[in-house]
Amino acid sequence: MIDRAIETELLKFLRPEQILFDALMSEHTTFKIGGRADLLLLPSSMNEVQKIFQTLNKNRIPFTILGNGSNVLVSDKGIRGAVVKFNGNFSRVELRDSRFVVASAGAKLKDVSIFAAEHSLTGFEFAVGIPGSVGGAIFMNAGAYGGEMKNVVASVRAVSPQGEIFEFDRDALDLDYRHSIFQTNGFAICEVVFELEIGDQSAIFEAMNDFTNRRESKQPLDLPSAGSTFRRPKGYFAGTLIDQTGLKGLRVGGAMVSTKHAGFVVNADHATASDVMNLIAEVQRRVFEVHGVQLNPEVRMIGEK
Ligand SMILES: Cc1cc2nc3c(=O)[nH]c(=O)nc-3n(C[C@H](O)[C@H](O)[C@H](O)COP(=O)(O)OP(=O)(O)OC[C@H]3O[C@@H](n4cnc5c(N)ncnc54)[C@H](O)[C@@H]3O)c2cc1C
Repeated sequence: MIDRAIETELLKFLRPEQILFDALMSEHTTFKIGGRADLLLLPSSMNEVQKIFQTLNKNRIPFTILGNGSNVLVSDKGIRGAVVKFNGNFSRVELRDSRFVVASAGAKLKDVSIFAAEHSLTGFEFAVGIPGSVGGAIFMNAGAYGGEMKNVVASVRAVSPQGEIFEFDRDALDLDYRHSIFQTNGFAICEVVFELEIGDQSAIFEAMNDFTNRRESKQPLDLPSAGSTFRRPKGYFAGTLIDQTGLKGLRVGGAMVSTKHAGFVVNADHATASDVMNLIAEVQRRVFEVHGVQLNPEVRMIGEK
């Protein structure tokens, strides 16, 4: 538990509504799962992120970074220490030099896609239906329909766990399939510059509509989930392997392998994080038994075990 005296220190640079004690994490994840975090902080600028990290370090409070919570499974016991969440508070999107879009980490990918399209910029269409923030997308090198963050990012400004600002060029980001340098260095991504191309506006909107329709027809968007549960194993598709193993509709508690898309574990009925974990383990076991392929989760497990 956190000593509430820290509130006084935080209030020197944050507004009261940016500081939430005992925050229920199921309200901050697309899975709608997760216990309480001791403290949830909602910064609105890079300077606030620096001060938050410095204050937490001084008080020896560990912290976890969160975006839109669309690729995480938060444990039922919740998160000890602080969660620093990048959301609408920190979501500016701006045009620079006609081809560059500068976005704060909390901006939604959908909003950046629309912004780019409104300025006749092409390259970001693929991201329109990924329900993440800009920060979470860079962290995961999110991708869809042949596009990925790696192809559009020019540079990133991030704050180190010690509270210092660093700038990373594209080549320093170590972007690969669902991987970036931020998965090892613990920095908070704060501002991203995307480099796009001038294109035909109607073709851009058409591509965005096409991707949205394809998603709606294939993915179980009516039930809470964290998207694809597993990483793509080399040479296979996780969903196909799971489907071929006959696991669509398999349930543990309230968690279920989607009947619409076997690659998604969905929260079908008040699932707990342990339901999801147990279902993941069962899917891994059965797929390995039938196909000899090891599935590894793409969803990131966070919180107290
Ligand atoms: C219905 C559905 C469809 C999806 N489709 C796709 C898809 O097509 N392609 C795809 O790639 N993904 C997909 N996803 C997964 C998810 O949306 C992406 O991984 C997204 O990029 C995660 O962003 P987020 O802001 O929600 O990150 P979160 O889930 O909040 O966090 C994910 C990780 O990023 C870290 N992180 C978040 N923000 C920051 C930051 N500012 N600085 C440093 N670290 C940070 C967190 O610590 C965490 O480890 C889908 C998810 C859902 C629910």
